[in-house]
Amino acid sequence: MSARRIVVLGATGSIGRSACRVAKDLPDRVQIAGMSGFRNMARLAAAANELRPEALAVPDAAAEAELRAGLDYAPAHIFTGEEGLVRLASLPGAEMVLVAIVGTGGLRPTLAALQAGKDIALASKEVLVVAGELVMAAARRGGRRILPVDSEHNAIFQCLEGHEVRHVKRLILTASGGPFRTWAEDRLRAVTREEALRHPTWRMGEKITIDSATLFNKGLEMIEARWLFGLGIGSIDVVIHPQSIVHSMVEFVDGSVLAQMSHSDMRFPIQYALTWPERLAGSLPPLEFARLGKLDFEEPRYDVFPALDLARQAAGRGGVVPAALNAANEVAVAEFLAGRMAFPRIWEIVAGVLDETPDAPATDLETVLAADGAARRAAQRLAAV
Ligand code: NDP
Ligand code: MG
Repeated sequence: MSARRIVVLGATGSIGRSACRVAKDLPDRVQIAGMSGFRNMARLAAAANELRPEALAVPDAAAEAELRAGLDYAPAHIFTGEEGLVRLASLPGAEMVLVAIVGTGGLRPTLAALQAGKDIALASKEVLVVAGELVMAAARRGGRRILPVDSEHNAIFQCLEGHEVRHVKRLILTASGGPFRTWAEDRLRAVTREEALRHPTWRMGEKITIDSATLFNKGLEMIEARWLFGLGIGSIDVVIHPQSIVHSMVEFVDGSVLAQMSHSDMRFPIQYALTWPERLAGSLPPLEFARLGKLDFEEPRYDVFPALDLARQAAGRGGVVPAALNAANEVAVAEFLAGRMAFPRIWEIVAGVLDETPDAPATDLETVLAADGAARRAAQRLAAV
């Protein structure tokens, strides 16, 4: 079997770098045809020099100059701007696009890749939260697949293989609980940036690490699961599992539960998505159960971490409301990371924006992006007071 040619959007990020390690581990099966970076041109140049993709995408001409200075080969294309990302996502000859851009920046390139007949390996959950209906419809129209990279969804995808969705009773997403899992509620107002960025089990980009601390990450993942697997939000539950070994579970109507397990290393789900339906021996570490000793499970503290209920509420209202939830959260996380507001303000702002957001169907991309823009402005206004 020949190598699958893959474009990596967000190659300089946490997921992008893990994907490059997978490609280096399996050179006969995974070939990186394209890469994008945003701010970190030195890292993009270093990764490109190693894997030699034919096409690269960067935000502007200044970034292109910086990138060229660091390259030791001449790629066939260096695309620039938002249009450049779309062109990279549509690169002729590439079969699959790994979308690993943080936030909503991955939405247009995902739609372009589907339109160009590529399969998607999706890390950017925000893309499905904002426009799940449109993205899934585009995939169906083109007969393309969306292979989940998010570890929970990759786990569920694996547990569902060979099974029928009508036999599923519920999906159970596991959550580490984040750094504040056991903290008293009254301590949360004084949480620092450093404390919130200290995730107990995963090393990830800053935005998703904050989302894991508020539990908005799990809220976004409930909505992501709803679109990927076509189940109602009422059939998607969350359980806290501090060790992050069971990545999620599927309960069937007969009461049987299938779980997927591995170490908490994103190379597992990335490799499975990039090489599916093959299972390939690489350099990933095996689980040693006797050394793990035990696995714990507990109920989320819904009253202390309102993110889960807010996400459930947004999913229940549907239409553009999840896009508003996501946009408000992106703004609030950026404000918290900039040191301009207290940690619990993140969910207070999201709740405030949801209250202001009118219900409307997500008919097309413009409608969704308009709701996203309105929610961002509302969140900025609420953050400023
Ligand atoms: P990082 O912050 O580490 O990386 C983000 C990537 O996106 C970088 O390559 C960055 O480029 C690029 N980027 C940032 N902003 C833009 C923009 N506006 N336009 C184009 N490119 C941009 O994030 P992660 O890798 O942690 O996460 C990426 C996505 O994957 C997120 O949606 C996250 O929720 C999801 N995910 C991540 C997991 C993880 O373990 N990290 C697990 C499951 C899901 P540069 O660095 O050059 O500025
Ligand atoms: Mg996840």
